[in-house]
Formats: sequence, C-alpha cells, structure tokens
Amino acid sequence: KNVLICIGTRPEAIKMAPVYFQFLKSDYNTKLCVTAQHRGLLDQVLDFFKMKPDFDLDLMTPNQTLNKLSSRILEGIDKIFTENKIDLVLVHGDTTTSSVIALAAFNRKIKVAHVEAGLRTYNKQSPFPEEMNRQLTGRLADFHFAPGETASLNLKKEGVASNNILVTGNTVIDALKTTSAILDQGFKNTVIQDLKEKVNFNKKIILVTGHRRENFGEGFESICNALVRIAKENDVELIFPVHLNPNVQEVVYKRLSNLPNVHLIAPLDYPTFIWIMKKSHLIISDSGGVQEEAPTFGVPVLVTRTVTERQEGVTAGCSFLVGTNEVLIVEKTKELLSKSKVNKSINPYGEGDASRKIVDFFKNRTW
Ligand code: UDP
Repeated sequence: KNVLICIGTRPEAIKMAPVYFQFLKSDYNTKLCVTAQHRGLLDQVLDFFKMKPDFDLDLMTPNQTLNKLSSRILEGIDKIFTENKIDLVLVHGDTTTSSVIALAAFNRKIKVAHVEAGLRTYNKQSPFPEEMNRQLTGRLADFHFAPGETASLNLKKEGVASNNILVTGNTVIDALKTTSAILDQGFKNTVIQDLKEKVNFNKKIILVTGHRRENFGEGFESICNALVRIAKENDVELIFPVHLNPNVQEVVYKRLSNLPNVHLIAPLDYPTFIWIMKKSHLIISDSGGVQEEAPTFGVPVLVTRTVTERQEGVTAGCSFLVGTNEVLIVEKTKELLSKSKVNKSINPYGEGDASRKIVDFFKNRTW
C-alpha cells in the first residue's frame, strides 16, 4: 500500500520524523510530502534528520493569508493525489497543512490518519487557528493517534469509535530520544561556540520562545515588559531565539535589544535548541512542543497562555499557566529561580515508542 506523510512546519517535521522512518522500515511504500508552509525552519529539521521529500509544494510566501495558503495547499495536494495512487495520508497536529490535506484526502476517499489527535482547548480563539485545525482534522480522519488518555477521551466524547483511536504517547519524545543521544556524544557547532562566548553558562539560564498569534500585539508587549524586569532583577542570562514572524520580531527587538544579559538570536536548529533546553533552569514559552519536551530534562515551563491543551504537564507540576500577565510572569519566575528543577524522571507526554505503535496499528488490522 502507498502511504503519504504530509508536513508543513518545523514542529510537524520534528514530530513526524520518527513516524516517517518507522514507516520506511515497514513494507509500505512510503513517501514524504512537504507543503513548506514554513520554509527555512522546516528545511533545518529535514537536514538534521536527513529526510528527503518526494514532493515539495514549496508554498511559503511572505505575509500569505491563511486562506491563500489553504487554497494553494488544496490545489497542490490534489495534483499529487491525481498523479499518484495513495491509500493512506498521515497528517500531524493542528496546522493549516494538516486540516487542508485531510479535507483533500477525504474528498478523494483516501484514508486519513491523524498523529497527535484529540488535543483540545474547545476555545476557537486559543490557540488560533490551531484549535480549529485540529478539530477539523479530527472530524475528517479515519484513524486517530492520541498522545495521551485525555486526548483519547476528547475524541470518544466527540463520537470517534474506540477501535479507531490508539493512545501512543507523543512522537516528539521519540524525536527527543534520538536527538538527546546525538547530543550526548558531544555536539558542537558555530552557534553553540558563539553562545559560549556571549553567555555566562554558570548563571541560571532562562530560555524564551514565543509565536502564538493570539499573543501578537498587547500580549507580546506585556511578555517583553516582564522579560525586561526579569533580566534586571535577577542574576540570570536570557536566551531568546526570536521567531521569524514580523509581529514577533518587531516588538521583541524594539523592547529587548540593549540588555546585556538578554541574548536575542535567530531561531535555532532543533539539536541546538535542545542543547540549550538541557542547560536551562527555566523556560518561558507559548510553544506546544516545548511543554512536551522540557519535562524530560526537568526544566519547568512558564506557559504564556491562559489555556493549554497539554494539561498533563500542569497537573504533574512541570508547567505553569501564566498568560501574558507581567506581574504573574515576573513573580512565578522568581519563585522557580529559587528552586531546583523538577523531578527529571517524569515526562507525562510519552516514552519514546509512539512511532512504533503507530506503524504496528496498521500492521495489525485490515484497512
Ligand atoms: N524549536 C527549535 N528551534 C527553536 C525553537 C523551537 O527547533 O528555536 C523546536 C522545539 O524543540 C519544539 C518545536 O520546535 O520541538 C516547537 O515548535 P513551535 O514552538 O514553533 O511550535 P508548537 O510546538 O507550538 O506548535
């Protein structure tokens, strides 16, 4: 049978890499399609994991609206569907790439499998547009790989049959295991060398990321105010790989340049980012993937959102919802800086065998 794995953004590439390689080891004829909804960030991950797309729609253009992107994905993927016999499409998570390709496959009566299925806030505006993307993908999909029990329960409540759901853990932990092993062998590059010259790694390191659309404007202003205070009031070093979106870049560079212990840098390639994560005392981020990865290294995450679909980390005491409230961010940071890191052995998001479980699911049933 012919399997097509579809990805568009950096996190999808990281989280689908283990699934792709597991499928390549199977008897299925497996192909990789990238929409390149992100270009540079996606390519960094493809290079690191040595993934070669069979189809590249190369759709990124500056300031593209979500509707324009959607229509171009629909057209591009449909051409691939008409020119190739595809039996199963795998999409991931909550991107425009995923929901639109799921729709295109549904219209062509091609089976759809959704990896990282069932995450929900049930709030259409947060995260936007991700919450709607994953709900739509969930409605369109035939097979649902839920990262945890909560996600599985959400899907069942929405009427998905139990035998089409498998709880696998999150594939990000599979990717992290491989990457962590590479880092343990001694990992160097010019970015790390550069950082070692600029950053005093004997101080407590705070890693910061941010890219959520619902935080653009006021939210980012407030987060930046908090970061200024954190940098001035504590003996810390902040490392902030700044997302390429102009809405993020503008505020961050305006507010945080010229602080000696705030290091604004370009988005990092995946292994370098994990290298810093391992060295961090604390992370301030609105990222989904980061909430899942950090518990592996016992690094707490202040989540700059008011809701999270990754509640397991909050329950386990690995992450803390602080929203974009300046005072809350400053106070929670102070509190966590005074403590040692959380228990290293707990990662509520998976054990690193999710991709094997996904491929076994198809081997063990007729479809
Ligand atoms: N990441 C990275 N470089 C960076 C920032 C993040 O490689 O400079 C990785 C991170 O380890 C995680 C993923 O990108 O695996 C998260 O992506 P992002 O925050 O963009 O998206 P989300 O997870 O919120 O969908």
